[in-house]
Amino acid sequence: MSLFPAFIKLKGRPCLVVGAGPIGESKIASLLAAGAVVQVVAPHATAAVSKWAAQGRVSWKAREFQPGDLDGMVLVVSAASSPAVSAAVFKEARSRGVLCNAVDDPGHCDFYYAAIVNRGQLQIAISTGGQSPALAQRLRKELEQQFGPEYEPWIEKLGDARRELFAGQVEPEGRRERLHEIASAGAFEEFQSGAEPRDAQGGQTTGTVYLVGAGPGDPELLTLKALRILGQADVVLHDDLLTPEILELIPQTARVECVGKRHGARQVSQEEINARLCRYAAQGLTVVRLKGGDGAIFGRAGEETAALRAAGIPCAMIPGVTAASSAASAAGVSLTDRRLGSALVFLTAQRCKGNPPPNWKAVAALGGALAIYMPGGHETDLARQLIESGIKPDAPCIVVSQASRPDEQILRTTVGKLQETAALPAPAILLIGVLAPTEADPPSPAPSRVEGLSASAGKQDPVSPLLEFMNE
Ligand code: SAH
Repeated sequence: MSLFPAFIKLKGRPCLVVGAGPIGESKIASLLAAGAVVQVVAPHATAAVSKWAAQGRVSWKAREFQPGDLDGMVLVVSAASSPAVSAAVFKEARSRGVLCNAVDDPGHCDFYYAAIVNRGQLQIAISTGGQSPALAQRLRKELEQQFGPEYEPWIEKLGDARRELFAGQVEPEGRRERLHEIASAGAFEEFQSGAEPRDAQGGQTTGTVYLVGAGPGDPELLTLKALRILGQADVVLHDDLLTPEILELIPQTARVECVGKRHGARQVSQEEINARLCRYAAQGLTVVRLKGGDGAIFGRAGEETAALRAAGIPCAMIPGVTAASSAASAAGVSLTDRRLGSALVFLTAQRCKGNPPPNWKAVAALGGALAIYMPGGHETDLARQLIESGIKPDAPCIVVSQASRPDEQILRTTVGKLQETAALPAPAILLIGVLAPTEADPPSPAPSRVEGLSASAGKQDPVSPLLEFMNE
């Protein structure tokens, strides 16, 4: 049989709480929040309950429960430490028709406390009928993410609008339509984008946004600073390069939103990410924008800091270990080598709409190493462009997939054979023109590493600059 779900108005109604330890205290607090007139019976009370009694907010009888305590009560909560007391309270309450909740004692409960998402007047209550409080907790956390703190002012606004509509001359059909319109998702978005910073509303300070580089995936590659700031986060917006091990370091109390491009059906636009960062900070929250690698390298940090600056929101950038560095150490190579050249170029194979392609000839002529981010799916094109711009097909090329992660893979090949690497799982990065370790000087492989073999592995001339791999 299912439970009867109800939200009960307790304002001004007498309610009894038996027991005033920490659990009793929390039950008293929730009844006070609902405006109940709270009577407490307990031989001892916590400091907070004693204080409420001294202030007249509750009346406290410092003794054991007696049946007469239930006279005139609407409901009773037994938070007594002794199960016998709870059983006696329940029995007495039953005989008088008073609803009883004995904490952690379902056999002596007429009603349960629900897991609650509290957003002011918006309350979402979850019950599993006592079958799985753990599921109720999980659902609560999920709903808390879906219905953030911004719902509290919004629900107030909706209430005002509703009262105004009822006070006006609008005919019922039009009013009904309008009520749905103002509660729509679109209206909510509009409300959010128009939200003023809190300090403009009432002296509350604006929070800071930290753009934190989380490194390539291994949590040990987080900086101490990143870890410390993550521990202070109220809200974390992360992209989908983040590994579960890093996500586990986010405090349980923080609101976590994945805003990655590959996340879910709905893509969160950059504008929306910027707006969310501004909005949360304006609410006085400490916001961490957690990005894979280093946020300042192909991480759109520039767009986000510009939006934050324009909104007058303090922001700080915390650097992270970028994929190229992690891939180089995985492969046991140096990204720069004075014997090879003096440049290191970070490039991406992805282009923003309207941006011109890289000047490959100029890049090749620099004569150092290339780290090519986001190569996935572009390998054939990349190889063609590199060769056309003068790099020889047998120039060494290392593909590192999932650098620093348990499934890390390394493939040593040549630019000419690059298209064969298309199957390596994302995220993967290309290092071109780096000095591959010779057979006499192999990298020390991690146990989980899968080494891809290629004809050129270990055969390079140890002092061949990228230019030497260029066609005439
Ligand atoms: N800001 C990031 C780069 C973001 S662009 C950084 O500094 O590393 C995303 C690209 O980064 C991926 O397509 C891939 O090319 C590279 N990348 C990120 N993490 C990686 C990893 N663990 N292993 C290999 N490549 C990675």
